[in-house]
Amino acid sequence: MSDGTTTRGTSSAAQAGLSNLLHEERRFPPSAEFSAQANGQPDLYDRAAADRVGFWEEQARALHWDTPWDTALEWDAPFAKWFVGGTLNVAYNCVDRHVEAGHGDQVAIHWIGEPGDTRTITYADLQREVAKAANALTELGVQKGDRVAIYLPMVPEAAVAMLACARIGAPHSVVFGGFSADALASRIDDASAKLVITADGGYRRGAPSALKPAVDEAVARTTSVEKVLVVRRTGQDVAWDDAKDVWWHEVVDRQPDTHAYEPHDAEHPLFILYTSGTTAKPKGILHTTGGYLTHVSYTHRYVFDLKPDSDVYWCSADIGWVTGHSYIVYGPLANRATQVMYEGTPDTPHKGRLWEIAQEYGVTILYTAPTLIRTMMKWGEEIPQGYDLSALRVLGSVGEPINPEAWVWYRRVIGGDRTPIVDTWWQTETGGLMISPLPGVTTLKPGSAQRPLPGISAEVVDDSGNPVPNGGGGYLVLTEPWPGMLRGIWGDDARYTETYWSRFPGRYFAGDGAKKDDDGDIWLLGRVDDVMNVSGHRISTTEVESALVSHPKVAEAAVVGATDPTTGQAIVAFVIPRGDAAAATAQGDALVQELRNHVSKEIGPIAKPRQILVVAELPKTRSGKIMRRLLRDVAENRSVGDVTTLADSTVMDLISQQLPAAA
Ligand code: ATP
Ligand code: MG
Repeated sequence: MSDGTTTRGTSSAAQAGLSNLLHEERRFPPSAEFSAQANGQPDLYDRAAADRVGFWEEQARALHWDTPWDTALEWDAPFAKWFVGGTLNVAYNCVDRHVEAGHGDQVAIHWIGEPGDTRTITYADLQREVAKAANALTELGVQKGDRVAIYLPMVPEAAVAMLACARIGAPHSVVFGGFSADALASRIDDASAKLVITADGGYRRGAPSALKPAVDEAVARTTSVEKVLVVRRTGQDVAWDDAKDVWWHEVVDRQPDTHAYEPHDAEHPLFILYTSGTTAKPKGILHTTGGYLTHVSYTHRYVFDLKPDSDVYWCSADIGWVTGHSYIVYGPLANRATQVMYEGTPDTPHKGRLWEIAQEYGVTILYTAPTLIRTMMKWGEEIPQGYDLSALRVLGSVGEPINPEAWVWYRRVIGGDRTPIVDTWWQTETGGLMISPLPGVTTLKPGSAQRPLPGISAEVVDDSGNPVPNGGGGYLVLTEPWPGMLRGIWGDDARYTETYWSRFPGRYFAGDGAKKDDDGDIWLLGRVDDVMNVSGHRISTTEVESALVSHPKVAEAAVVGATDPTTGQAIVAFVIPRGDAAAATAQGDALVQELRNHVSKEIGPIAKPRQILVVAELPKTRSGKIMRRLLRDVAENRSVGDVTTLADSTVMDLISQQLPAAA
């Protein structure tokens, strides 16, 4: 078990199992100034190693509890209960207590609409808005335990609605605003939601985009919804059902702006959230109250080094993903952060929009995804270089393994060669960050999430569940329960046990491949399903993709293993060129040859792709993850599978059309 302990020493060069091919040697120690002021110091690791559960109790004490817990952890594998007997209110912890402590005038949210309208919301404003919304939910018949579906654009009401649900103890199920009526209907149905909170529409790429019609369709096809609460955002026409539909501004605005909260049990359900569907049908992941809030506020404070009096924090995720739940709403607000929230897309009205916002608000901490960083690389570094980003002091990455080249670009171009980068590995299921550097402690390695956070126990194991030595590769497992862990799959305990706890009994199987380097640091290698087997060699898609992205002409790459009569599987790569795509495509064969040789040189001849296709776009989920299973369908000449969580379904047609040219 590796409670964060770094072991140096033995490593065998030719480990069986997952490949051990990355040779990333760049190192970035924290600056002395950063370390001196950092929230997280080396002693955190020691304290957590000495008494893991006691360490979590210490973190829980940073919150306000109405009743203290009797037992910190009850572990009846695979079912955990944390802070048993304790009661608290999440909304009180995220809002009211900061106002009571004299911070009512501090800005909680600097909100920026895509068309350029703005709202500034202080903690005192937020307290009033949440109180009104909680009163409105009660008037609409929502009681403790009832489920509420939230289907909103990135407007402040999304955070207000979540907090109001938390306040009255009605678990929310946020559904990403870009999803179809189909996806919404199946999620409403699965959770039997009683109320849907939505908007007429939101702004997307410079135009209003309707939401209400999808809700109408979904509600017509389900039976549980009694009322639909509608925020007016775009002012576009909407169909209206007087029996069901109510306007937010009519019902919420007239409510009293105070609300007496009820403390909830530490294990009371806080929310259900469906996973992004990269590998399979989305699962309704259940999170509860006390352990979850402890985990997200602790990790947000130490990993992002938040200083509530001076930082301006910005997480660019959508509230419909777990990152938005844990690191826009619950973690930052519990820690009294001042944050930026942006409604729109990064290229509207121009490709410098994010950097313009960062400059204007003096953003100090930025948390985003590798897909966005690679997009910025593709657009060219002159764009961010046109803005003053000197206030930035910590950068974060989440969602996929970050290719070392993208990491180094992120630090140099966005971070001014100065900021630490925290590559944070976690999942919807884990609730909060699990494996990540601490920015004031860790000597950073581009492309590696490195060590389990203090309090987290992770291991890399082989097929039979034995820990691999340093230098070896296998499967990532979590070996001890943690406070933010999922409490189950909504309505399906059997699927919970089967999916996460049966592969390695007693341990949580994350579904991701990983390796340990010679220092014992962890490198995530992508989904286990994405690992390729080429002539008996197990090669991770991540490593080949990173080699491709390290070539100056490549902005993004996706790699899959396709069935091959001679090698079992053969590597097929899809690449998006940097800068001028047309010119690169014109180079055609020459570029493909150059890239094949480059991979061979970087990793070895065994990893040389059989085929490389130059494409303009890659299929991604709405949360920006590459959907390799669809590319595998193309590479193996099958019709493409389920595309319902794809951001742009035309991408697959485009790629299929390009296919013959590249053989
Ligand atoms: P589904 O489980 O339905 O297939 P999903 O796994 O894409 O969907 P999420 O919970 O949003 O849904 O994503 C978690 C996954 O994202 C992790 O299991 C891992 O594969 C990947 N991931 C997240 N952060 C990192 C990171 N820093 N490094 C490597 N991989 C990461
Ligand atoms: Mg998953």
